[in-house]
Amino acid sequence: MATIDIKSVEKSFGALKVLKSLDIHVQDGELLVLVGPSGCGKSTLLSMIAGLSDVSKGNLLIDGDDVTRSHPRDRDIAMVFQTYALYPTMTVRQNISFGLEMRRVPKAERTRAVEDVAALLQITHLLDRKPSQLSGGQRQRVAMGRALVRDPKVFLLDEPLSNLDAKLRVEMRTEIKKLHERLGKTMIYVTHDQIEAMTLATRIAVMKDGEIQQLDVPRVIYDEPANMFVASFIGSPE
Ligand code: ADP
Ligand code: MG
Repeated sequence: MATIDIKSVEKSFGALKVLKSLDIHVQDGELLVLVGPSGCGKSTLLSMIAGLSDVSKGNLLIDGDDVTRSHPRDRDIAMVFQTYALYPTMTVRQNISFGLEMRRVPKAERTRAVEDVAALLQITHLLDRKPSQLSGGQRQRVAMGRALVRDPKVFLLDEPLSNLDAKLRVEMRTEIKKLHERLGKTMIYVTHDQIEAMTLATRIAVMKDGEIQQLDVPRVIYDEPANMFVASFIGSPE
């Protein structure tokens, strides 16, 4: 169970204000897709939620607890990045297990957690391979396995499919939707791809220049865009 409350959150880099007082409530178990053009502040927002970047103003709450100033380790959030670096000298099994070792999880428990997540992501047959022996899609599954193995409350994905070719992107999109349905985890998924947003989302937040233009279920975003920007970005016939 995890809700996320983003309350009047702002982010500035020096004089540059990249997020302008955002208010978003993410419901327990929903897959919120954050969509908008490059540079609008999507990655910045996600890294603040993960605790990898400071909040300039406002508050962040996970399950009602204020985590605005807490360490990333204490947030129980996992994130997958657009460019994910697997450890090249480790096997897939070691890559997935590493975070658990750092947390001093006992070996038997680690082994079981790695096998469970590998089964979930259909990479059991790849556990003894090195990253260099994997395809792009398989590497992305391993990156997700590494994030999910410790069963985080919240799962954040920042354009996880943007480095894959078109065919694989469609396949992985379906996988991620299934994963969300199976786990029922609260997820925020960032993309600049409208089709990905429409097919994956419980709700879509459309962003432009550090502001939310509209936040609603895909059907409403598509049929009743709040303004010209949303209409043209999502590609509604209006
Ligand atoms: P998106 O993920 O939507 O493409 P980002 O969140 O990466 O956008 O960036 C939003 C804006 O913040 C951009 O104008 C970017 O140049 C700026 N920005 C991001 N990170 C930094 C940083 N560390 N220092 C200065 N400006 C930054
Ligand atoms: Mg980004």
